[in-house]
Order: sequence, then structure tokens, then C-alpha cells
Amino acid sequence: MLSKSLSWSRRNVLKTGGVAGVAVAAGIQGGASAQSARPARGSPKSIIEQLVESTAIIDTHEHLIEEDLRLAGKHRLIKANDWSCLLSHYLNSDLTTCGMPRKELEAFFAPGTDPLRKWSLLEPYWQRVRHTGYGQAVEIAMMRLYDIERLSGDTVNKVQQGYERTLQPGIYKKVLQDMGRIESCQVNSLDTPFSESRQPLLLMQDLSFRGMHIGPDIESCAGKAGIAVKDLQDWHRVIDWWFRTYGPYAVAVKSQAAYSRNIDYEDVPAEQVQTVFKSRLNGDPIGNADRKRLEDHLFWYCVRKATEYELPVKIHTGYYAGSDSMPLSRVERNAAAASDLCKAAPDTRFVFMHIDYPYYEPMIALAKHYTNCYIDMCWAWIVSPVASVNFLKQFLVTAPANKVLTFGGDYIPVEPVLGHVVLARRGIARVLVDLVEEGWLNLESASSLAEPIMRGNARALFNLEHKARKLQAAPWISSNGVGPTQHIINQAL
Ligand SMILES: [Zn+2]
Repeated sequence: MLSKSLSWSRRNVLKTGGVAGVAVAAGIQGGASAQSARPARGSPKSIIEQLVESTAIIDTHEHLIEEDLRLAGKHRLIKANDWSCLLSHYLNSDLTTCGMPRKELEAFFAPGTDPLRKWSLLEPYWQRVRHTGYGQAVEIAMMRLYDIERLSGDTVNKVQQGYERTLQPGIYKKVLQDMGRIESCQVNSLDTPFSESRQPLLLMQDLSFRGMHIGPDIESCAGKAGIAVKDLQDWHRVIDWWFRTYGPYAVAVKSQAAYSRNIDYEDVPAEQVQTVFKSRLNGDPIGNADRKRLEDHLFWYCVRKATEYELPVKIHTGYYAGSDSMPLSRVERNAAAASDLCKAAPDTRFVFMHIDYPYYEPMIALAKHYTNCYIDMCWAWIVSPVASVNFLKQFLVTAPANKVLTFGGDYIPVEPVLGHVVLARRGIARVLVDLVEEGWLNLESASSLAEPIMRGNARALFNLEHKARKLQAAPWISSNGVGPTQHIINQAL
């Protein structure tokens, strides 16, 4: 079922405070009568930059671990609890592909290496990577969090001190909300299909269904459900349990299965994969064709459940994280397969993530053509900042404005999210300014896009107001005595 349609609402903009202030000061008042309002002050560029700067943003994709686990510094995804942590995800990939030898890379990220000596390991390669989106996000975060002008041998001491000073209770709120002006995040946990967050309104959660249809991951999914799996019907019951238990609290479902296959899922009936599932249970070898049919069947079982629970389906498309592994021949088929998904399930809202970089133009065509297709720019600003500008600029004069989501940090450590959101705001402002200066939009029209593409679209698509109310009364909140703080509740509502 599609959520209520979006329109730019002055009431919503007023709720963001600063936006309204800038808009009114600029003589931009949103409605049709705006043209007759006071004339704007300042250049279109400065008006739009102030507007984007002061507009709250919703972060539709993160892999943040719970704050208390991060503070403890012992999580398997945190290699070393020092300043190298900021480079561990994703800049480690650029460092690999620029030629940093594996031994030096491992020493740089190792917990046992003296943090101040790590600069000497990084320095020969830093100039090769500091200009990429990954590199810029890290350096911007360090500049803002640790008060340095650039990362260098002269500042590394201050960087390490700043890292230790900022890593204390409240760091997520400080980095995300106070400094990043991020209203709420949507976390895809890498530990469990659904994380019962202790900050549920700041760290809203996707229900990850990858393990329910790839593998499938019987051990980790069935255990928590308390169901002994002896056949395919039992596995369906396990999936049902996850949706029944967490569907009301999740904002969406998510699968990154595109890392292991194309997203070309056929609707295979259960009776055709009963024996394949038995083979999986018994640990017998399964051929590629049979494996695909089982995954296909389970994908659609999960997608139908998601649709029943009114949860959008987020799907990884395009570029692969990591290095030296991406089969571009598979990646380039994502867009065509995405169009088949949209056509096959018109009642399901599909969110295709990461603009399918580098194949982003077909995704604009899909969002324009299919009512149930949404494109998420999560991760994109750091994968390629300029391609992201090109994508959004084309998108806004091609497809309906409610079909795009413009930010997701996509990080495990929280600090570089700040650098990423700075790049995103810079890019969004650049796009709106370009569209005005090139004569495609007038100032009022371009300005009216900022709030929906940064915030309103996500609030409507993921039904965030309703989800926030549900999360306030989530059983794991009331049962363990950890209540969400009122200021977070207020901001999320
Ligand atoms: Zn991700």
C-alpha cells in the first residue's frame, strides 16, 4: 500500500525552525502567493545555501552499532579504538586500491600500533586518497570534531586527543543531531536482523531480511524465534515470527543480496523448492540453479510479508564496498532487474539504494516511470560526490520530487557521518543553485524542494511519525527501564 502522497507543506517546514527563518527572511513563503511576497535578500546562491544548511535531514541508511558497544571499544567491527577507526570504513578500500601494502594497512588499523606512529604508516598514501569522497568525509569530520585545519604529522596528536575526548556518552546525539542536524537515522544492523536499540528514535531500524532469503541463515534466524526448522513451512514460520515481532517497529526491510547475485527474482512456488530446502537443512550440495530458485522463492515470501506490514523494501544496487571483488557485468544488470521487480509487485514500494552507481541514469527513468520506485542516495555522496550532483540535478527536473531520498551515511563508526552529511548538504545546495542559475527552476521553486528531498519524503515514505509513536512503547524499552529521552522524542515527532 502506498503511503499518503507528499506535498511541500509550510507547516512541516516551520517545524524545522531554521528553515522557516531563512525562507521567510529570503521572502520565500512556500505557497503560490510566495511570488508576491517580500523580495528575497542576497543572491540565489547564498539564500539556497543557508536554506539547505539549516534544514534538518533524515538519514535513511546507517550501520551504526549501539553507542554503549562503541564506547566499550570491543565490537568485532571496531578494529582499533583510536583515530584510525575513522578511516576503517570505507577509506580502507581506497587505501588498498591506491597501493598501500597489506602489511602496512594491517599495522595501521591494528589495535596494538601506537596511535601517534600510525601517521607515518598513512602519510605516503594520504595524498592519493584525501580528495576522494571517502577521504573528504573523514578529513571534514576530523576538522569539525577535533578542531584541526588538516590531517598531518603536525595535527595527528590533536586528532588522537580529540578522538578520546569526544568518545563519551552522548557522542551519537552530539555528532548526528547537534552537529550534523540529522533528525533520525535508519540503521541496518550487521549483527542481527533487527537491533533493539536503546536510542530507538535516533537509531530507527530496518528489518534485515538477507539471511531469510540468502543461504538461508537458519541458525541465527531460527534460534531467536525459538522454532525448530524441519522443513520449508517451518522456515516460513520463522520469517513470520520476525515480521510479527519487529514489523510494527521497523521502518523498512533491507537486503544487500546484490553482493552475491543479481536482483532478478522469479516468483517460484513453495512446492518447487521443498526438496532443495531439505538439502540445505541436511547440508547436501545444491546446484546454482536450485539455489537461485530457493532464494527467489524466499525473496518473494519476505517481500509479500513486508508489503503486508506496509514496510518499503530497500535493496542494494550498484557499486560494491570493499576492493578487488566487484563483477561489473553483474552490477550493470541491476537496473533492468529492478524494473522487473517494480512491474511484478505494484503494491510494494521498492527503494533502490546508492543510486545504482555508476548506472544512475536508468534509475531516474525507473523512478519517473514506476509509481512504486524510489531512489535512495545513501552512500552515494562519498562514493562519487560529483556523480551524485549530476544524478540529483537530472532527477529533480525529470522524476517527481517525492521519489528521491537524499542522504544516508552508511557508516559503522559515527564520526565520519558528520563529514558525509557536510558533503551531502554541499551537493544538494550545488544542485539547487545550478538549477536556478541555469534557468531550469526559479528561486521559489528550487527552494521549495529542499525540505521534502532532505526530510519530508523520508518521513512520509517510512511513516516515521507513526513509527516513533510505536517505538516509544516498544517492549524492550519499557521492560529494561531504558526510556528514550524526551528531547529525542520531540525531534523525531
Ligand atoms: Zn550499507
